[in-house]
Amino acid sequence: MSDLQKKQVAELTELEARAELKDLAKELSKQDELYHVKDRPEISDAAYDALVKRHTEIEKLFPHLKRKDSHSNRVGAKVGATPFSKVIHDTPMLSLENAFSEQDLKDFLTRSKKKLGLSDQDSLEIMAEPKIDGLSCSLTYQDGYLIQAATRGDGTTGEDITDNVKTIKDIPHNLSGDYPKILYVRGEIYLGKDDFLKLNEQREKENKQLFANPRNAAAGSVRQLNSSVTAKRPLKFFAYSVVSEIDNITTQYDMLQQLELWGLKVCKASQICRSIKDVLAYYSQINHDRPLLPYDIDGVVYKINNLENQKKMGFVARAPRWALAHKFPAEQAQTILKQITIQVGRTGVLTPVANLEPVNIGGVIVARATLHNADEIQRKDIRVGDRVIVQRAGDVIPQVVKVIVEKDHPRTLPYQFPTQCPVCDSHAIREQDEAAYRCTGGFNCAAQAIEKLKHFVSRKAFDIDGLGGKSIEFFWDKNLIKTPVDIFTLEERDKESATRIQNFPGWGKLSAKNLFAAIHEKRKISLDRFIYSLGIRHVGQVTAKEMAGYYQTFQAWMEGVLAAKAAKDSEPYQVLNSLEGIGEIVADAVIEFFKEPNNEILIKNLGTYLDIQPSGKKKNDNLLLAGKIIIFTGTLQSISRDQAKEQAENLGAKVTGSVSGKTDFVVVGKDPGSKATKAEKLGVKILTEQEWFALITQA
Ligand SMILES: [Zn+2]
Repeated sequence: MSDLQKKQVAELTELEARAELKDLAKELSKQDELYHVKDRPEISDAAYDALVKRHTEIEKLFPHLKRKDSHSNRVGAKVGATPFSKVIHDTPMLSLENAFSEQDLKDFLTRSKKKLGLSDQDSLEIMAEPKIDGLSCSLTYQDGYLIQAATRGDGTTGEDITDNVKTIKDIPHNLSGDYPKILYVRGEIYLGKDDFLKLNEQREKENKQLFANPRNAAAGSVRQLNSSVTAKRPLKFFAYSVVSEIDNITTQYDMLQQLELWGLKVCKASQICRSIKDVLAYYSQINHDRPLLPYDIDGVVYKINNLENQKKMGFVARAPRWALAHKFPAEQAQTILKQITIQVGRTGVLTPVANLEPVNIGGVIVARATLHNADEIQRKDIRVGDRVIVQRAGDVIPQVVKVIVEKDHPRTLPYQFPTQCPVCDSHAIREQDEAAYRCTGGFNCAAQAIEKLKHFVSRKAFDIDGLGGKSIEFFWDKNLIKTPVDIFTLEERDKESATRIQNFPGWGKLSAKNLFAAIHEKRKISLDRFIYSLGIRHVGQVTAKEMAGYYQTFQAWMEGVLAAKAAKDSEPYQVLNSLEGIGEIVADAVIEFFKEPNNEILIKNLGTYLDIQPSGKKKNDNLLLAGKIIIFTGTLQSISRDQAKEQAENLGAKVTGSVSGKTDFVVVGKDPGSKATKAEKLGVKILTEQEWFALITQA
C-alpha cells in the first residue's frame, strides 16, 4: 500500500483520504475475493482487520467521500476474519489414527481383540470403507429436518455452513421413515473427478485461479459467502456415521443401511472383512480401482463393525481406538524431464508443461506433468535433462515435485521462460502480482482467437443476430471467419465462393441473407461497444464507456492510445491513466495490446469496414476551457483540489498530473512544488488562485 497509510487518519487531507479510500476499496475487495472465493488468503487475519479498521476510520472522518464501491456497503459481509458463525460440535469431530504399514494394521487387530477379550483365532468383523478425499461435515437433523451443517474446524469448533450445504442434492432437507428426534450425521462433502475437471475448465475460461485438487475445490465451494455460487458447484456427499445411538442398530454396516433409508447417500464400495487377509485384499483392491472411481480417495478406513464393541474400545486422546485410517502411499515415481513446452490456454495464459520419459505411476502411464508457472520452475530449479520426482496429485493432474540433483551429472542452464507466445510469436507479458505470463496476440493468436471472436460477437459487444458462439465455431472450422474483419467481408467472399453458405447443411438462401443483413446492420456501432468488443485485458464495459466518453471518436481514441503507448511519462499516458476507473493496470493493458503491431493493424483495418459512432458524454467545444490542459499544484486556499478539478472539467478542461509542453495553465496554490518550476521552464502560463477564479468567473 502507499506511504499515505503511515499517516495518522486525523492528519489526512481530503485529497489523500480520497486516494486512500480508492486504494482501500480495491485492496479490500481483492483480499475478500482471495479469502472467500479463492480460499487462498494472501494476508493474515490481523492485517486484514487493520485494513478494515483504517477504512472505517477514514470514512468516519470524511463521510462525504464514501465511495459507491466502499467495503462498508458490502451486503452480507461481516467484518473480521471469517464470515461464518462458529458452531461448537456436540460431540467432537475426532481425527483417526494412521496406519502406514501392514504391521500397523496387524497391531490394530491384535490390540482390538485383546481389549475385547477375544483370542487371536476369533474372528472380528471390520468394516472397511474408502477414505473419501473431501471435507468432513456434521449435519444436525431435528424432527427429521436439517437445521444445521458445520465444518469440522479444529474438531471442537467448526463453521456454520447450513445455507450452502442445503444446496447439495445428496443431502436431504427432510429425512424419510422413522428417525430420532435429534440426529447427528457425519460425512464427507466431495466433488467428483469429472466435475472437478469441468469446474477448472470453466475457471480457466473465466480467467480464474485453478483449484489444485477436488478437495480444495470442495472446500472453496462450501465456504462461499453466496449460496447461489455453491449451488452451481455439483458437490456430493457420503454419510459415514451417526453420533447418537439408534434403536436396533448394532453394527456400522446396519448404520450405513439405515442412513440410506433416511435418504442419505453412502459409499457403496464399503465391505465387511473378517481377517487380516480380507483387510489387505480389500486395501489392494481399492488401491487398484482407485483411478477408476468417480471420486478421489486417499486411503481406506477400518472400523470395528459392532457398535457395542466400539463403545468398549473407547478413545485415546483425540482419536477413537476402534478405527484406523490406512493411507495409500503417495503416488510418485522418478523419471527424466526431456523437455519443457509451453501450452497457451484460451485466455492466452502460458503454462509450462514437463515432457517426461514415460513412467508408470500407480498404474497410469504419465508422460507429461504441469510445472504451473515461471516462479514454480525457478523455485524448484527445474531444468531440462533433470531427474525428477513426479506425483499424481489428487489422482488428477500429475506434477513435478522436485529435482534429484545427481553428483557428477552436468546440468543444463536454468530454464528461461519465453517472453514470446509459442503459438503466434506475439510478446508475452507478466502483470504486477500475476504468476502467469500472457500472450498479447489476441485475435492473432490461434490459441485465443475463437474465444476472442466469441467475445467480439457477444451480446454486449457487436451482438450480431444469428452469429453466436456456435456459429463462430462453425465458420472457424470452415476457414471462413478467422479474424473480426472476416465477419464483415463474409458476404463479399461468399458471392465469389464455389461453396456458398446457403448450401451448407442447415442453411438456406434466406438464412444466409438474414445473416448478411444482420452483419451489415452492425457495421454501425458505438465507440464504447467497439472498444469493449476487442477483449483487451481489464477493459470491461464500464472502462470502455469511460474511454469512449473521453476520446469521443474512434480516430481520437486511436491517436490517444498510440501516443500513450509511445512513452509512459507522456501527457497522453497521464490522460489515459487518469480517467475514472482506469489506473495503471488498465492503462498498461491497453498499451501492451497496442504494442503488438498486428493488433494495431487489425483494428485500423477493422475501422475501415465500420461506422464507429461517438458515444457517451458529448464534447462541448463552446465551453470556456474546452480542450485546455490544466494542472493544479500546491494547496488551494478557498476550495479543495477536487472541487477545483471538477470546476475545470465542467468547463471542458482536462486536469492532469504532470507538466508538459502541451499544458495550457498551471494553477499554483500555497507551497507549490517542482511542477511550478517546470512550468516556468517550459514557458507554460502560470495562474495564481485569484487569477484562476477571475478566469473561470467569466463563464
Ligand atoms: Zn499467442
